[in-house]
Amino acid sequence: MTLQGRIVRCISCDGFGWFDDDFSGDAEDCDWCAGAGYVYRDEADRDRAIPPSDYAAVADELERLEEERLRELGYQGGAKRPWRQAIRKGTRLGRNPYGDN
Ligand SMILES: [Zn+2]
Repeated sequence: MTLQGRIVRCISCDGFGWFDDDFSGDAEDCDWCAGAGYVYRDEADRDRAIPPSDYAAVADELERLEEERLRELGYQGGAKRPWRQAIRKGTRLGRNPYGDN
């Protein structure tokens, strides 16, 4: 179902999608995956950031991978609300139905 090969967890940020900058205190998007936390891996094992235009098409797969990752981390709750995820912006799931952010 993926457009550009399989989707794997970003090896740079380990699926987080960002880094805390200890110096400035800011969080910065991961360069490797452009903040998605996941990348396409092609048959030659080359990783490539998932372009934002593909996010809607791969949203279900990302959701599944993210649930898997959170379980590995021992997270017991539900998945992060889709409208709190930058990757969902502009998609149907990216709209907060409760309007409370
Ligand atoms: Zn990354």
